[in-house]
Amino acid sequence: MSEKHKFIHNLLTTEHLDASLVFGRADLRYLCGFSGSDGVLFFSNHRTIFLTDSRYLQQARQEVDADEVRCYKNKLQALADLVEETGSRQVAFDARRLSVSQYLELQRLCPSAVTFSPLTEQWESLRGIKQPAEIAFLKQAADLNRRAFDATLPVIRAGVRERDIALELEFNLKKIGGEINSFDFIVASGWRGALPHGVASDKLIAEGELVTLDFGTRLGGYHSDETVTLAVGSVDGKLRQIFDIVIEAHDSAIAAARPGMRARELDAVARDLITEKGYGDFFGHGLGHGIGLEVHEFPTLTGKSDTVLTSGMVVTIEPGIYLPDLGGVRIEDTILITEKGHECLTSIPKHYRQLSP
Ligand code: ZN
Ligand code: ZN
Repeated sequence: MSEKHKFIHNLLTTEHLDASLVFGRADLRYLCGFSGSDGVLFFSNHRTIFLTDSRYLQQARQEVDADEVRCYKNKLQALADLVEETGSRQVAFDARRLSVSQYLELQRLCPSAVTFSPLTEQWESLRGIKQPAEIAFLKQAADLNRRAFDATLPVIRAGVRERDIALELEFNLKKIGGEINSFDFIVASGWRGALPHGVASDKLIAEGELVTLDFGTRLGGYHSDETVTLAVGSVDGKLRQIFDIVIEAHDSAIAAARPGMRARELDAVARDLITEKGYGDFFGHGLGHGIGLEVHEFPTLTGKSDTVLTSGMVVTIEPGIYLPDLGGVRIEDTILITEKGHECLTSIPKHYRQLSP
């Protein structure tokens, strides 16, 4: 049995379940290889059955690793029939992936003897430890980021629209194999840098501004995510100061990352440093997040996360300082937790760079 399937088998045993229904796209890709947008995996101790609609039947027959592939016209009815056919009584599903109305409908269609268990935390860590093949894709996706950034860098100067830089990045990423954008790219210059999620706008970049670029692509289903902050010409002393603080927080957190430490301890390495310098109130988000088949996944690195970092986890490290009306800095890398400590997967240099305007 594969490591991936072992997780679900353990879940069935510890929660005393007969079967589990897998709905999430990323979970489906992970557990059975299906890359389409709609399907369900029925998982019991005896067999795995993948169900999808006619649009995906051929694709599923080629891609899916399951004992059986079936086609449905009505998904919930097909699941109810399968629950009955297999004599399953205790059935779990990931509560994050089924709407309340779907849940109620499924209950209505099943015999009253069937009990559904909506699980959340128990599912969370399913994809937390990356296998070597997954790490290889994450490294390749990170490499695409660096190559596309290098090709885009000459375009970044005063007078250029943020949106045009985002388009150039997207073009360069897709030209070398990026599948889709990981998210709407952030290109935030000047005062817009104070918006942590300042998606590229029509604003023109001006001399004397910092520009934050946060972007990534997908390869083999796996995402890249990286943030660079650049100076266009000479910037205000305060902006330079917060850059130096953020890079120190970023470098310190990466240096400290190792297995056995809790996520909140790693968050504290960067947060304490930023707080000591007087900018704690201007770093409002967590230090980072897990990344893989989803851009944001388990584990989250926040002040509240007790997750113990483990070799094979891949997380981002992305401290930032955002000063309203003035500007902001965020610097982000994606790292792999290894037996000995960590390995940085993203490779765009993050040191202070002043571009000629
Ligand atoms: Zn990012
Ligand atoms: Zn991120």
